[in-house]
Amino acid sequence: MTTKYVYEFSEGDGSMRNLLGGKGANLAEMTGLGMPVPQGFTITTEACTRYYDDGQQIGDDIRGQIVEYIGKLEELTGKKLGDPDNPLLVSVRSGSRASMPGMMDTILNLGMNEQVVAAFAAKTGNPRFVYDSYRRFIQMYSDVVMEVGKAYFEELIDEMKERKGVTNDLELDADDLKELARQFKEEYKTKIGSEFPSDPIEQLFGAIRAVFRSWDNPRAVYYRRLNDIPSDWGTAVNVQSMVFGNLGDTSGTGVAFSRNPATGDPGLYGEYLMNAQGEDVVAGIRTPLTIDQLKAQNPGLYDEFQAIVTRLENHYRDMQDMEFTIEEGKLFMLQTRNGKRTAAAAFKIACDLVDEGMIDSKKAVSMIDPKQIDALLHPQFDDADLKDATPIGKGLPASPGAACGQVVFTAEEAAERGKRGEDVVLVRLETTPEDIEGMHYAKGILTARGGMTSHAAVVARGMGTCCVSGLGEISFGVKNFTLGGNTYNEGDWISLDGSTGNVYGEAIKTVPAEISGYFGRIMEWADAFRTMKVRTNADTPLDAKQARDFGAEGIGLCRTEHMFFEPDRISAIREMIVSKSVEQREAALAKLLPMQRSDFEGIYEAMEGYPVTIRLLDPPLHEFLPHEHSDVVALARQMNMETIALEAVIDSLHEFNPMMGHRGCRLDVTYPEIGAMQTRAIIEAAINVQKRHPEWDLVPEIMIPLVGEVKELAFVKKIVTDTADAIIAESDVDLKYLVGTMIEIPRAALTADEIATEAEFFSFGTNDLTQMTFGFSRDDAGKFLESYYEKKIYEVDPFARLDQVGVGKLVETAVKLGRQSRPDIKLGICGEHGGDPASIDFCQRTGLNYVSCSPFRVPIARLAAAQSALANG
Ligand code: ADP
Ligand code: MG
Ligand code: MG
Repeated sequence: MTTKYVYEFSEGDGSMRNLLGGKGANLAEMTGLGMPVPQGFTITTEACTRYYDDGQQIGDDIRGQIVEYIGKLEELTGKKLGDPDNPLLVSVRSGSRASMPGMMDTILNLGMNEQVVAAFAAKTGNPRFVYDSYRRFIQMYSDVVMEVGKAYFEELIDEMKERKGVTNDLELDADDLKELARQFKEEYKTKIGSEFPSDPIEQLFGAIRAVFRSWDNPRAVYYRRLNDIPSDWGTAVNVQSMVFGNLGDTSGTGVAFSRNPATGDPGLYGEYLMNAQGEDVVAGIRTPLTIDQLKAQNPGLYDEFQAIVTRLENHYRDMQDMEFTIEEGKLFMLQTRNGKRTAAAAFKIACDLVDEGMIDSKKAVSMIDPKQIDALLHPQFDDADLKDATPIGKGLPASPGAACGQVVFTAEEAAERGKRGEDVVLVRLETTPEDIEGMHYAKGILTARGGMTSHAAVVARGMGTCCVSGLGEISFGVKNFTLGGNTYNEGDWISLDGSTGNVYGEAIKTVPAEISGYFGRIMEWADAFRTMKVRTNADTPLDAKQARDFGAEGIGLCRTEHMFFEPDRISAIREMIVSKSVEQREAALAKLLPMQRSDFEGIYEAMEGYPVTIRLLDPPLHEFLPHEHSDVVALARQMNMETIALEAVIDSLHEFNPMMGHRGCRLDVTYPEIGAMQTRAIIEAAINVQKRHPEWDLVPEIMIPLVGEVKELAFVKKIVTDTADAIIAESDVDLKYLVGTMIEIPRAALTADEIATEAEFFSFGTNDLTQMTFGFSRDDAGKFLESYYEKKIYEVDPFARLDQVGVGKLVETAVKLGRQSRPDIKLGICGEHGGDPASIDFCQRTGLNYVSCSPFRVPIARLAAAQSALANG
């Protein structure tokens, strides 16, 4: 059987989106609904895939089908391609499954040549219209098909206007436009070296090839990566007979939304222009009229349009974004799709549709893109201000929101000025744990190094602070940096967009985050449909409180080390690290104990009885060591040591590969007293809080990190249980607690059946698990991953989106093996992936009990988990 690669609009319908693309499927659907759609046909996405499989050729079979369908369209319209007496003119339009704005420009008026134009001008008696259409065609074809570029054509138009002393392109007459068409063809010949093609069939295939080719242009590839659109989907091509909005004053073209896409308010919203074609409305050539003015200008047509809009909305049960053309007073629909909308509008529209009885609450929950929630929780740029700004560079969108402030280069400066209420942006090569306070006071953080899970990115996300990371083009000078050809000094204003990665060398106004009642309604529904719990990664009572406000149902990861960087603690922890004897170390730990205990109490209080997983000390110890000579001297004095002796200790702690060095449970294997102190702090804190809140039922979860072997887990677990049991026995509280582990080393996943004999819960630490599975460091991968995207080896950052094929297989294996040994084992994820919708869906399908993510991602995770539960229900 031969494959069908071409469908008339009347053969398809809205359900065939994968094959016909969004535009094609909806044109078919509108045709089926009996709406006024200029007829045509759609060449399928499969034909696009074939085009690439065949080495960028349109196969003879596909070619044959296209020619056959041109014949059908000629019959249907009673016109003929290239026939001067009665020419069929068509548009060639791209359209993939997911809408991809700006992927390629549409070609209008295809089928024109000198003979057609001359005869057509005579026949219509409207040469101005004909030459206007002709010059547009040459312009679009040259730009899109031959990639000649638009600029020069625009210049020619401007020159012509100047010569005629006019400002509006409507004032150019037929002869001017005819002359322009001639100049355009001349330009084409100069650039391409051959005549502008006059054969309509040649024009048509050139245009179709251009659409297929545009699927792989760098803009499209980048857009797909940002929006998770697989490259093998391909684009469809729509060939549609033309209707003309540029036929005179009773003709026009416009775009409209069935509701306001910015606010969600009901009522038609849109713009149109009379005597215009295609993109004139959006191109800003003339100032368009608002759709209300159409009501005054042509009430009959307005009513007809309104009736179609209502019907489309009722049909699709969602807000529609439509394109239409009026040809000599007759209305034609050229496109409809579910309209893009702001986050605020998305929530309002979903609720309104439920109230109007158009959809149920399940549909309302499913129709909102979880990623959009970011825009509600973080400040955004003022749209009008942003429009006039040009980025000076683009890094990774590490933590969402918009920030505007004066440049500072040190965390101290950021903290100092931030405390005074000044807006600052912290610009660093990379950040380290010592920068925490400054990061807290900065409006935004910009780093030259580091990927999506670098220190800056993780910490900024946790704080809800805007961050752009890994902008390698930054070069630092003394108290300044250079980017995009300009140098910025301390105190200069810059702006960051943490949602796109764009950096601007100027101040752009921001508008604060605003959460509406619609948001609350949707989230309430989402929570009812959700089966996985959503916890948070929080290290301080403040973060924990924030996460509770966002609906977190516990803490999945509390990293104890983040508490050690406070200025009053760092010296005690340093003392502990450089201790030579157990006694020395225990003395230092004794100083830390009360601090840790009170931290944990604060966290238990903030979590209001919800479960809290606390991880024992994890990072390589050298992270805590003093780097500045003056700090070394001070520490030596404090410890009654010679500076030289201390320096020797510090040197001895040097590791070649600290990520795989002396860290995690390895610390407790060598220094059991660390684990014992931390356990004491956790258990005593829980007992104290339990006494204060008898209504809560606290069950501390103690998590041992970086386990790869069951015996090492058993060893550290014994330290924990010995300590905990002794404390509980002496207390008057019958406290239960759990000991579990992080699964973040491939060996732990592969031997999870053994590990689970000791571990009462698993938490998948997918940052380290990804790093160890791929064998590249999350701090360095940013440097070379870009080349992998370009070469299509990887399509997305595996640190941002869980690699379901490889890392996912380890997770699935561990889940299966873990449950074999311990059927009721508690399973969660605490890597950065816990806040990523696609990864959350994986967790749902894999059967995890909860996901844990940074506080500001909790609402995203709640919604994504609900959508996944509904989709997999
Ligand atoms: P995009 O996907 O960029 O919106 P379209 O394929 O929708 O591109 O085309 C852009 C515009 O071109 C349409 O909004 C419409 O005004 C005009 N257009 C496309 N096809 C036709 C046609 N057959 N007749 C008249 N105008 C058309
Ligand atoms: Mg369009
Ligand atoms: Mg880890």
